[in-house]
Amino acid sequence: RTVYVNGDYVPEAEAKISVFDRGFLMADGVYEVTSVLDGKLVDFDGHAKRLERSLTELDMASPVTIDELLEIHRELVRLNDLTEGGIYLQITRGAPVDRDFAFPDPAEVPSSLVLFTQSKNLANAPAATTGISVISIDDLRWARRDIKTVQLLYPSMGKMMAKKAGADDAWMVEDGVVTEGTSNNAYIVKGGKIITRQLSNDILHGITRAAVLRLAKEAQMEVEERGFTIAEAQEADEAFITSATTFVQPVVKIDGETVGEGKPGRIALRLREIYIDESRKKAI
Ligand code: PMP
Repeated sequence: RTVYVNGDYVPEAEAKISVFDRGFLMADGVYEVTSVLDGKLVDFDGHAKRLERSLTELDMASPVTIDELLEIHRELVRLNDLTEGGIYLQITRGAPVDRDFAFPDPAEVPSSLVLFTQSKNLANAPAATTGISVISIDDLRWARRDIKTVQLLYPSMGKMMAKKAGADDAWMVEDGVVTEGTSNNAYIVKGGKIITRQLSNDILHGITRAAVLRLAKEAQMEVEERGFTIAEAQEADEAFITSATTFVQPVVKIDGETVGEGKPGRIALRLREIYIDESRKKAI
């Protein structure tokens, strides 16, 4: 694989980042994952806007412009012959001469920029037809989950707790209400109404979430943005998740309890189809 590191396209084995990089030492970095369908980028603008917001919130500079980022994404797709999968992008506050909690002067220490591709079957992922199972866990993350930082230890632990319990993923719960999945937004469907937590600093503002809610409204489906409990989710007609790399994926089991008929719901599957169709059309 050819990856991008600070201005260069290099074979992955030759890619290097300093041991003093603050991304490595302090998780002082932000990231984005943009999916690729038919060799084209899905909702690049949405991801670029969220990246700019994450950077602003952390007072971090981007080493390149958004136009340059788009070019780098496209060049990586080309160099790696990527038709379907994702592009991972990470910006960190660079590598100062010493480890220090205070931010370095951006004029002296440039941010680091890394991008790489991951080939993956997205549109025909098996989980879309079988559905996934989730467990619930406490949400023990920090309070600025709206910023897409590379601080992913707790979500990784959540994924392992799910695996140990024989489930696919975990939904995190705070004050009795579901926040989101370890790497996705969470939804239930009740009486035809799609319910998902409202935006705040408590969850990541999913790019797929925004698109799916817009498409749902365009298809005359009812949407309610509010929190829900695990008990309410277990009693719901359907449940599902969204993210850039899973699109819309049905959830059929929550903490061992079957949701609805225990198979992918009609609305989740319809939304998945609409989302994939539109993404293919609009990808750049
Ligand atoms: N929530 C969390 C915690 C995530 O990590 C992700 C995926 N990065 C999402 C939601 C979904 O966001 P998106 O649709 O932009 O991929």
